Amino acid sequence: MRILVLGGAGYIGSHTVYELVDAGYEVIVIDNLLTGFKEAVHPQAKFYEGDIRDKIFLDNILSKEKIDGVIHFAASSQVGESMKNPLKYYNNNLCGTEVLLESMVEHGIDKIVFSSTAATYGEPESIPILETARTLPTNCYGETKLSMEKMFKWISKAHNLRYVSLRYFNACGAHPNGKIGEAHNPETHLIPLVLQVPNGKREYISVFGNDYDTKDGTCVRDYIHVNDLAQAHILAMEYLSKGGESNIFNLGNGVGFTVKEVIETARKVTNHTIPIREEERRAGDPSVLIASSEKARKVLGWKPQYADLETIISTAWKWHVNHPDGY
Ligand code: UDP
Repeated sequence: MRILVLGGAGYIGSHTVYELVDAGYEVIVIDNLLTGFKEAVHPQAKFYEGDIRDKIFLDNILSKEKIDGVIHFAASSQVGESMKNPLKYYNNNLCGTEVLLESMVEHGIDKIVFSSTAATYGEPESIPILETARTLPTNCYGETKLSMEKMFKWISKAHNLRYVSLRYFNACGAHPNGKIGEAHNPETHLIPLVLQVPNGKREYISVFGNDYDTKDGTCVRDYIHVNDLAQAHILAMEYLSKGGESNIFNLGNGVGFTVKEVIETARKVTNHTIPIREEERRAGDPSVLIASSEKARKVLGWKPQYADLETIISTAWKWHVNHPDGY
């Protein structure tokens, strides 16, 4: 089976490409390398540098390569940036997906798995969050991902195309093989920022808010290993190949950790004191986000392998200590 991975040089995309190649798939990668890295692309995958908003470029590849299914990661994904520059998010995330869907319909490609986010929910009404929960994004990034989901919904009704949308909670960790990992510029995510302290790149970690209604006053998140996310994409593609209907799944461990618990675990893994500085709440942060992933477990047969936070942070540490400046 030949799978086209859009955004396959990015963090979650590159890990999915590694898992696909290991599982015996033929993989074609497209990435514009604006936030991705050529070095992150598996050497056995066929790589095209270019932008999915370029219809001629995309049509050319879809005509040339016999693609059975698409996995779509090619999107901008920084919450803060999306609030400062929403037009960038509408252009990259929505225009890119519109061009992609046009080209897929024209070429008769009928299966797509795509990365969505817990940010589609906004502030949750109840925990754990089910796929049927209200979707009311509190930032433009989440709004564009929700709009992408809706595009897939209506296009799948009009054309011969089925989709699976995967709503990730907090993606983290790195491939245990040590070859690929998380590299964002600027970095905004908690675990890589915490690990910059023992790596000598930062003196302390800021803790955003200490007065949330949680056990230690800091925000609770559901941290899910990037290889487990990668596996879910493969299972979702298999599900569609077997004739599964269009669907939406949450991906998380169903367990929440506070910011302070994450820092404490990082201290244990790295054997470093990791000083903290308590600061104001970060705008738009819900206090608790925990997924119910029962549906993915039941329907896709998904079973996370790296559920333990210490294991997750150990894989991240292995990557960052050997690649302090990323790729
Ligand atoms: N956070 C923090 N300090 C940082 C970065 C993040 O306290 O330097 C907190 C943030 O407020 C949130 C949690 O860590 O409660 C996870 O944030 P991250 O940006 O990693 O993911 P998000 O939950 O926003 O998708």
